[in-house]
Amino acid sequence: MNEKQLKQHLGLRVVVLGTGFAGISFLENLHSRIRENKLSGIDVTAINATDFMLFSPLLYQVATAQVSDKHISIHASERIQDMGFNFITANIMEIDLKSNKIITSEGEIPYDYLIISLGTENNDFGVKGVREHAIPLKSLRDGLEIRLILQDSVKKDQLLIGLDEQEEPRDTFVVVGGGASGVELAGSIAEYANARSGRSRDNFRVELIEAKDNLVGENDIKLSNIISDELVKSGVKVRLSSKVEEITGDEVRLSNGATIKTSHVFWAAGVQNSKIVTDLREQGLALQSGRILVNGNLRALGSESVFVLGDNALPTFNGRSLSVPQTAAVAVQEGRYAAMALGHLLLNGNLTGFPDFRFRNSGIMVSLGKFNGVCKLSNGIVLTGFAGWLLWRFVHLVKVRPMRNRLGVLWDWIHVPLLKNQIAFGRKLA
Ligand SMILES: Cc1cc2nc3c(=O)[nH]c(=O)nc-3n(C[C@H](O)[C@H](O)[C@H](O)COP(=O)(O)OP(=O)(O)OC[C@H]3O[C@@H](n4cnc5c(N)ncnc54)[C@H](O)[C@@H]3O)c2cc1C
Repeated sequence: MNEKQLKQHLGLRVVVLGTGFAGISFLENLHSRIRENKLSGIDVTAINATDFMLFSPLLYQVATAQVSDKHISIHASERIQDMGFNFITANIMEIDLKSNKIITSEGEIPYDYLIISLGTENNDFGVKGVREHAIPLKSLRDGLEIRLILQDSVKKDQLLIGLDEQEEPRDTFVVVGGGASGVELAGSIAEYANARSGRSRDNFRVELIEAKDNLVGENDIKLSNIISDELVKSGVKVRLSSKVEEITGDEVRLSNGATIKTSHVFWAAGVQNSKIVTDLREQGLALQSGRILVNGNLRALGSESVFVLGDNALPTFNGRSLSVPQTAAVAVQEGRYAAMALGHLLLNGNLTGFPDFRFRNSGIMVSLGKFNGVCKLSNGIVLTGFAGWLLWRFVHLVKVRPMRNRLGVLWDWIHVPLLKNQIAFGRKLA
């Protein structure tokens, strides 16, 4: 692309790979830039495997029947087409940086500027038996599958009331991974199962296993202890510094020799970039821990026409990578920044003097079951119990968009607890 083409935007093709948190944020903000600055001649195309965006922070609530899967899957195509952009539902198979084109299941798509925001996939860290015997918490299907297992278990237990009173818990659920997702899943499984068991004592055992010596990955032992205490109060057994060595059909084997008898293992231990992204190393991009290194303007080191956002990117400053977490909050901020940077580039022909991206961390929040949450704000204040829970709910609710989905989530939060020990949302695996 020459400078004349850049300045006049003659048929300038911007292609966005992935319309998750980063991709949508980029598109919305680019749409505003184009309107404000009356930029013309720009052809924007977004490509995604599905027609919807998953609001993953509420996925564990689908798994524990607190919200409907419908309300956390947000239709992306309509929203994007309303902005005047193209949307293609296709499987992206390869990025060809040399020929500036994307190879998809629907054909090849050329670009002048490329935005890579493909998110991540589940990482089993090579642990034996994860693929065969554990369910990850990553896709909507995973959430629904976990929900079916919990519903079946609770239903079986309800049928046996009075017939088969036993001392040992009837079922054990093991959650592997003590990051925010694993913590939230374990806390809400404990609440879901035991609240519905209809017996005076806990009939289900929930175990949370974490390889490190602290929870939620913040290296903040005090916060980790607070969360751990709250989980224990809700009936979760927390095992820190415990590595899973193997998962079989009926037990989880830990590296310290301990075993846990169960066939219900939920894997929330981590994510990794897909091969489409990691293969870009062979085309000259620099990667670290599977993430593409980007400069302060979020452009890939090794290709000026490629912006990388969200979970795929690892920002660097003065040649050193920054510890930017793989979260939705980062993805949204990066999407907004990249749209402003591209807008500036289109208006001025370069990014000289344009300020670098800076992540504003607003803290960490986890919800641990009924009226119980822990939030550590950016100023260090920690809210626990009802206050933490309320703040968590407020912050997450306002982030669900559009309004139709937000009202749906609010409706679920109000009406599901009223169902008491009936089974919410029926039995469906999409
Ligand atoms: C269970 C769970 C809970 C989480 N909770 C939180 C939380 O509470 N707070 C928080 O900040 N973060 C949370 N996260 C992390 C957050 O979801 C991610 O950091 C965020 O989604 C990253 O945004 P992204 O745009 O990079 O990727 P995504 O939002 O994952 O979007 C990637 C998009 O690319 C598409 N795609 C991928 N590969 C292809 C392909 N080959 N072809 C076509 N399309 C493709 C996908 O369909 C998807 O739409 C959670 C994650 C999980 C899994």
